[in-house]
Amino acid sequence: MHVLLVEDDAVLSDGIARNLTNHGMVVDVVSNGRDADLALQRRDIAVVVLDIGLPGIDGFEVVRRLRARGSTTPVLLLTARDAVEDRVFGLELGADDYLAKPFATPELVARVRALLRRASPAQTSVQMGELTLDTAARRAMVRGRPIELSVREWGILEYLIRHSGRVVSKQQIIDAILPWGEELTLNAVEVYVSRIRIKLGDAGLALRTIRGFGYMLETER
Ligand code: CA
Repeated sequence: MHVLLVEDDAVLSDGIARNLTNHGMVVDVVSNGRDADLALQRRDIAVVVLDIGLPGIDGFEVVRRLRARGSTTPVLLLTARDAVEDRVFGLELGADDYLAKPFATPELVARVRALLRRASPAQTSVQMGELTLDTAARRAMVRGRPIELSVREWGILEYLIRHSGRVVSKQQIIDAILPWGEELTLNAVEVYVSRIRIKLGDAGLALRTIRGFGYMLETER
C-alpha cells in the first residue's frame, strides 16, 4: 500500500512522511509536479497526498492528468487555509478530499486511512490458519493471543498472506514494503522472515524457504 506524498516544503514533507510511516504505510516522497505525474504513471500507488503549490506543474494539473488517464487513485489535496476556491476547484477536478494547512497530523493520518479503506474496502481483516491480521487496527493474533510485529515484519507478513500459496521472491517483498528508492538487503529480509517464523509459533502456518529465491506461505497440513 504505497502512499505518494507530493510536497515541496522539505520540513513539512519529512514530518508527514515520518508520521505515515509510523502508522505502517509505505511512503514514496517527491517534491515537484513532474515527478508526481511520472510516479503516478509508473508505480502502483494506493493514495496520493498532494500539495497544490508545487514547482513546475502544480497539484491541480497533476490531478487533472491523473483523471484524464482514467485513474481512480484517491487524492487528498493539501490547500492553503481559507483558499475556498482552491478546494472547490480541486474537488471539481477529481480530488477526493482536502486538508487545509496547517493541519493536525492525526487528522491527516485518519484521512489517508479513510481513503485507503475506500480504495480497498473489502479486506479489513485477514485470516489464515490460526493467524488473524486486523489490517484496520494493525493487530496480529495467533489463536486469539496478540503478537507484536515491527513495521517491517508486519509488511512482510501481510504481503506473504496476500500471496499465500504462491512463491514470492525476496525482491518482490522488498519492492512491496519499501518506499521507492530505499534499499533493504536480501539478508535483512531473511532476518525478518526468521523472526516472523518464531512469532507465528503454533499458528498452523508453514513459511517455506524456496532456496536461492524466496518464500511461500501456506497452511500446514
Ligand atoms: Ca507548496
